[in-house]
Amino acid sequence: MALVCTKCGAKQGLMAGLTKDLGASGPYVCDTCKAAVAKEQQVKLKVLQEAAAKVIVTTTHGIDGYRAVAYLGVESVEFVIGTAVFSEITTGFQDFFGMRSSAFESKLHQAKQTAFETLKMIAAEKGANAVVGIDLDFTEFSGNRIGLVLSGTLVRLEPNKIQM
Ligand SMILES: [Zn+2]
Repeated sequence: MALVCTKCGAKQGLMAGLTKDLGASGPYVCDTCKAAVAKEQQVKLKVLQEAAAKVIVTTTHGIDGYRAVAYLGVESVEFVIGTAVFSEITTGFQDFFGMRSSAFESKLHQAKQTAFETLKMIAAEKGANAVVGIDLDFTEFSGNRIGLVLSGTLVRLEPNKIQM
């Protein structure tokens, strides 16, 4: 039995019918529509990334010259990083500790960067143009793991108008 694309109504081709993943579930969508959806999502992601790049992040609760016109809630991003990053054999203790700490530092730096980028993406998605009251916390877990929590309040800022 030929399936009909739930998006455009096109009948599934014979080859597609034969090669269709038997484990696939859900409504049938033809390849053309699948490609269109993927492209649409890519465009949306690009728009979101551009908006995220403009999101202001600050530890303060406001920015001079701007007022918050909307509070869009508190958001947080969590990461767990392993501190046991090194398993390679090194030549000496000095090297071992030196390399281990620098590897961890770069890992931590990367995690921080990713946390900020993620929070900005969330902000952009919710229509905020700033995240105020940013707080970065670290929690130590057992098993050489460190939890990183970045939180802040999403706001929509607008420049202050001078009242006459
Ligand atoms: Zn289709």
